[in-house]
Amino acid sequence: MDKAKKRIDELIAQLNEYIYRYYTLDDPTVSDAEYDALYDELEKLEKQTGYVRPDSPTVRIGGDVLPGFEKQAHLSPLYSLDKVRNEDELAAWEARARKFSDAPFVYVVEYKFDGLTVNLRYEDGFLVSAATRGDGSVGEIITKQVMTIKSVPLSIPYKGRLEVQGEGLMRLSALKKYNETASDPLKNARNAAAGALRNLDPAETAKRNLSLFCYNVGYIENAPFDTHANMLDFLRDNHFPVSSFTQTAHSIHEVVAIVNKAEQSRASLDYLIDGTVIKIDSFAIREQLGFTQKFPRWAVAYKFAADEKTTTLLDVVWQVGRTGKITPGALLEPVDICGVSVSRATLNNVGDIERKKLKRYARVFIRRSGDVIPEILGVAEYPDNAEIIETPKVCPACGHPLVEKGAHLFCENPLVCRPQLTRAVAHFASRDAMNIETFSDKTAEALYDHLGLSDVSDLYYLDYDKIKELPGFGQKKADNLKSAIEKSKLRPLGSFIYALGIPGIGSKTAKDLASQYQSMAALMQADLASLIAIDGIGDTLAQNIVFFFVDDRARTIVARMLAAGVSPIFEQVSASNSALSGKKVVLTGTLYKYSRKEASDIIESLGGEVVSSVSKNTDIVLAGESAGSKLDKAHALGITVIDETQFVQMTQQSVFRGETSLF
Ligand code: NAD
Repeated sequence: MDKAKKRIDELIAQLNEYIYRYYTLDDPTVSDAEYDALYDELEKLEKQTGYVRPDSPTVRIGGDVLPGFEKQAHLSPLYSLDKVRNEDELAAWEARARKFSDAPFVYVVEYKFDGLTVNLRYEDGFLVSAATRGDGSVGEIITKQVMTIKSVPLSIPYKGRLEVQGEGLMRLSALKKYNETASDPLKNARNAAAGALRNLDPAETAKRNLSLFCYNVGYIENAPFDTHANMLDFLRDNHFPVSSFTQTAHSIHEVVAIVNKAEQSRASLDYLIDGTVIKIDSFAIREQLGFTQKFPRWAVAYKFAADEKTTTLLDVVWQVGRTGKITPGALLEPVDICGVSVSRATLNNVGDIERKKLKRYARVFIRRSGDVIPEILGVAEYPDNAEIIETPKVCPACGHPLVEKGAHLFCENPLVCRPQLTRAVAHFASRDAMNIETFSDKTAEALYDHLGLSDVSDLYYLDYDKIKELPGFGQKKADNLKSAIEKSKLRPLGSFIYALGIPGIGSKTAKDLASQYQSMAALMQADLASLIAIDGIGDTLAQNIVFFFVDDRARTIVARMLAAGVSPIFEQVSASNSALSGKKVVLTGTLYKYSRKEASDIIESLGGEVVSSVSKNTDIVLAGESAGSKLDKAHALGITVIDETQFVQMTQQSVFRGETSLF
């Protein structure tokens, strides 16, 4: 017992410190996941021992009220939410609620927005004040700050006394934009929103461009609604911003399906959600269930696995890209985020290290959402042994002095620097470029290390007798490489232009250049004015193209390849009168002749548009093998469906081929 009490005392001290940093300073030092784990431990020990101190975080709501702000008592208290993390816990919550009512439950599932609670008060149809949740009974008055949120209605049709609760948020796009120029970048959208709303200067709040979602009427006399769904309609009718994600369920099973759907959509949202909130729809049932000291029994938060944690930044490594750009990468103490062990994170450039004030051995916040590469948000804490991270002066690969251009460092030694050269060759061989099958970074490295490959034209002059002797090669692999390289000699002109690796020229721009100039000879002579006239090409890209071909070395490389038989093909596409011109096409099922990407490219090159879902606006559905619900929907809507053979016929009628005249 004494041991448990001691641990409880420790946990309370620790958690109260975290609460102060989070709620009062809006500057947490641990992630929510770490906080929640300690909170859960405390709650469990308190239940086991019955020892609950009056200053325990389990008996209070929110944090302190900041001294600089005036206070205001809410018309009715603002509660916290009970939490569950899986279906079993949700079922246990439902069982607890069942003890108070045996009426059938209808649930409404909403996003749990991760921002700052805002309580808006209206009188005679006008906004009279806005307050934070504070300790649940008394909040800080932040009316001027809240008025910077453009979607907050300053006057509403409803004339009675009213309090509406919502969550103030900073959209991720707004955070990104703000951080692009901020000298002190914001670590996280939640703290950014909370910090902005609790800033004494509303001009500062305005700079953060906040948003709001309303989800509750906290106080109203003679409410003209008796379900949550009707309450949301009331809010919408009174011009409050309400999320479109509110879904109804009739069983816990249905609730879980909606929660899973919400979790999948999480990574694509422009704001943070940390779970969903499940609420019983009927107000009559809510009354039967009532409240505990801390939360309503008729609502529960279903929290998602945390996508943000803290860990130690062990070091920064400097990688050299194919254009010579030096990109820093963070090496981290491995940490589990949503079931994935994360040990590396991207840093955009040298400036990122300075702006985020990163130091070696600092504890940093890491965020991983969906498939996005993990990102360092900022520093949580510096330990005593934190070290400054020096910016390199010379290329970590070849020792050449580095130059600074804009936000990036560059090694301008492309002829010798191994990673630049081998990556340029691997890019040349890649699928959208010369499509040399099975060619990888490793192949490029082997050719560089053992055969002295010095540029991409050497690929067409390889000595295969030597290649078959290389480690990991042999006769068969050498033969395969030879035939793959041979095949690459006849590639579309756009792919060839892309393969050259002209800085800033992606495959789409390369295709546009091919359509415009129709031959390498014409492109190599293009002047700035004619290049800038092309849609999507600005001054910088036009200059890159001109500079690239002014260089004798590039001209020699191209000439050597042509002399070896490389003969890019220009495909003249009659987009305007093709059967796909102006058509919205949906791809579904498995295709055999083309990959999805190739089929999409063809459709777009013929003037069509590829769309992802079938609707009455879709013109054609290209259905491969095992097409599923999209095909069914197309049939139901009477949309033209074609198979792959029909697609090939259709596209071939629209294309005629002509060999490019190169010089
Ligand atoms: P909570 O924030 O998890 O849940 C209650 C709040 O949810 C409400 O006040 C409301 O503002 C919000 N909410 C968002 N969408 C909603 C919706 N659709 N319907 C109703 N409410 C909605 O609970 P809490 O007790 O305020 O905060 C506890 C959480 O704060 C912890 O789980 C922890 O993750 C975090 N915290 C972190 C630290 C830290 O140091 N990292 C410290 C303290 C607390």
